Amino acid sequence: MTRSGQEYLEGLRDGRAVWIDGERVEDVTAHPAFRSTAASFAGLFDLADDPVHHPVLVRDGVRRVHEVPRSYEDLVARRRAFRTTARASYGFLGRTPDYMAAGVAGIAAAPAVLTGDGFDGAAHALAFHRRLAEGDLHTAFTLNSPARGHGGDDLTLRVVAERDGGIVVSGAKTIGTGAVFADEILVGTIEPLAADDTAHAVTFSLPLDTPGLTLISRASYEERARSVFDHPLSSRYDENDAMLVCQDVLVPWERVLTYRDPAATAAIWWETPAYANLVHQSATRFWTKLEFLTGLAILIARSNGTAELPPVTQTVGRLLGMVAQAKAFVLAAEASYEQVDGGRGGVRPGREISFAQRIMAAELYPRAVQDIKLLAGGALVQLPAGGLDLRHPELGPLVRRYFGTASHPAEDRVKLLKLAWDALGSEFAGRHEQYERFYHGAPHVHLTMQTWAGAAADCESLAQACLDGYDLGTTR
Ligand SMILES: Cc1cc2nc3c(=O)[nH]c(=O)nc-3n(C[C@H](O)[C@H](O)[C@H](O)COP(=O)(O)OP(=O)(O)OC[C@H]3O[C@@H](n4cnc5c(N)ncnc54)[C@H](O)[C@@H]3O)c2cc1C
Repeated sequence: MTRSGQEYLEGLRDGRAVWIDGERVEDVTAHPAFRSTAASFAGLFDLADDPVHHPVLVRDGVRRVHEVPRSYEDLVARRRAFRTTARASYGFLGRTPDYMAAGVAGIAAAPAVLTGDGFDGAAHALAFHRRLAEGDLHTAFTLNSPARGHGGDDLTLRVVAERDGGIVVSGAKTIGTGAVFADEILVGTIEPLAADDTAHAVTFSLPLDTPGLTLISRASYEERARSVFDHPLSSRYDENDAMLVCQDVLVPWERVLTYRDPAATAAIWWETPAYANLVHQSATRFWTKLEFLTGLAILIARSNGTAELPPVTQTVGRLLGMVAQAKAFVLAAEASYEQVDGGRGGVRPGREISFAQRIMAAELYPRAVQDIKLLAGGALVQLPAGGLDLRHPELGPLVRRYFGTASHPAEDRVKLLKLAWDALGSEFAGRHEQYERFYHGAPHVHLTMQTWAGAAADCESLAQACLDGYDLGTTR
């Protein structure tokens, strides 16, 4: 059964320990730092009740994004579900529930990877997948370590004890995007661990109200936003990033997926379809976000009266080319799908293209933002402070006179340019640029991953064939 937005919001009122600005938050659905974004997440749950979206999002009572795809057609159907969700926030909510739903479906497609010598997490992974799908639950994840080099202190989450019924973990993990708005959090490690580093080699999932678990939120852009008109994106789609701190947290055995096993702790991401599935969602969202930004660029150029100038039409052409690239990566990853576990685990998007999407997107996003800023000029900055200025009886007529153009009344123009600034130049926008660069690992990680998945041998043999085709004695 799918949950309604209201049921989802009720689930967030569970006493979870979320801190912001020195305050322990009583209820994230009511707090000004989180409530509008919580409502946006709730709206995603309600999409399933819309008769147009329902068949795209749901099959046999379960959201499609939880399914293990069995064919190319299933991948295409899943992408349509991702698109529907991405469009609801114009691509600005990255960690929508479909993201980890697809990731966990990927783990469930190849659970044998979790069967090690000392611990077998395969059945737990399958139960985890079932719990998410049947409960329509939303999971966030933290896979990274906090800053290194604090005088040798071990800040990173690790196993500290075993107790009846489970393991005890302490330490921190970062960055928990959307964790404040999730039902559960999946904790693991994506970077390679030394073979003897068994204390850090653990993967598990917990509900966010688990005793001992704390989320320390970054500053809220939503809270700083003065109105939807002034900050249309940050006021509603601030998905939050939080540090997860665990203080002697008991993790029941049935929630442990890998335990003291460095190989399985990495394999859960790299040898199952999990990572390719995560990229399938995020690449679809990225494509949607670039479409939105390109649409903004077109509207800004019209509003500035520059749309017909050759350099401006060329910029729009370049942006449309970027949209096509983003789309092509999604379609090509689907078309190059691979069988999982000889077909027993269904199919996954092709890894070569999926991994390359991360390189492309991390490099393309900052360029797209820069191109649009260049096209927009000072209009992005020279705006009245807010919508109140337009409403003011004395100031309003002045603003309407001097901020509008013949074709674009001031209210429309200010509205558009405030949206553009929120997307391109605000603190929220800066966070998005950092997100698109780093959310699946730093560039040196993407680039290294490509050497595992890319066509290095084919490239090398083609160059070698050229070299082999001549020698010192070859004549023309
Ligand atoms: C907005 C945002 C949201 C995120 N959300 C999540 C999330 O929800 N869950 C999650 O698990 N993670 C999340 N991440 C974390 C992300 O996975 C990490 O930021 C990423 O793995 C990079 O790690 P790092 O930040 O420690 O950077 P580092 O690994 O320290 O890299 C930073 C820079 O240091 C240099 N560098 C460091 N090490 C090397 C090296 N070995 N070789 C060459 N250069 C190097 C490079 O210049 C690199 O660009 C998010 C990140 C951001 C920015």
